[in-house]
Amino acid sequence: MASFSTPQVYIEQFNPKEYLQEYYSEEDGVLLADWVDFTLRNLNDTFTKGGVGGNTLLDFGTGPTIYQLLSACEAFDKIIASDFLEQNRAEIRKWLRNDPDAFDWTHLINFVCDVEKNGDDAEQKSETLRNTVKQVMKCDVHKKNPYDPIVMPPVDCLLSCLCLEFSCKDMYTFTEVLKNLQALIKPGGYFLIFGVLSCSFYYVGEKRFTSLPLKQEELEMAFYKSGYVIEKNVYAPRTDMSTLEISDFDNMYYIRAKKPK
Ligand code: SAH
Repeated sequence: MASFSTPQVYIEQFNPKEYLQEYYSEEDGVLLADWVDFTLRNLNDTFTKGGVGGNTLLDFGTGPTIYQLLSACEAFDKIIASDFLEQNRAEIRKWLRNDPDAFDWTHLINFVCDVEKNGDDAEQKSETLRNTVKQVMKCDVHKKNPYDPIVMPPVDCLLSCLCLEFSCKDMYTFTEVLKNLQALIKPGGYFLIFGVLSCSFYYVGEKRFTSLPLKQEELEMAFYKSGYVIEKNVYAPRTDMSTLEISDFDNMYYIRAKKPK
């Protein structure tokens, strides 16, 4: 078996433009069928009925994407985006400053406005998000303090989408990372994590990246072992099987975990 994609592989081979086009574009986004619906509806629920909100949300492994922050910007005063790769942080900054070369998220912004039904249009929503994201930082999952040398003040809510299974080579590492991330959350604060089960690879253009194939029981066990309390867990099967050669996940997961007081 090919070895797990290293940080160096990400630095050299992860192309944000290709990733966005392939997974999120209105024309051919592989993740539009199932993933986006699953995450955006669960996030909206969490920040409305679910009562999660507060001062600061920290997004870990933001990548070049903003869809995951569209509902959060209504529930938090401040959002901090963060990713390992400079090319991804540059892509986020482009969208934040409304650069003509930024990815067009309008279709998903409209989707969130429809789900939220608070009367906002895409332009107002974009402005709210742009005003709420205050920082775009570098993080590295492989450091005990992923923001080293910066010590982050603990936040009300940590969010992470499709990052840990793509950057942790085994369950031991995944569990250690969950423990390390706990230091970033205030006691009583939340960790919201979204990802995919049984995924062993995904393509970005011609480049193949590895993933840790997670099983539901192992995933939940990793949270228990790291000292979180799982408040909610949601699983949904993939329905669109037409793109299995691009990525082989079979289910999606959402875990809302609490750091005990
Ligand atoms: N959150 C986005 C991006 C997921 S792609 C989405 O939902 O689509 C996987 C992400 O993991 C990439 O942004 C990549 O830069 C990040 N990643 C890879 N290695 C990492 C590491 N060592 N530490 C933190 N993030 C890493």
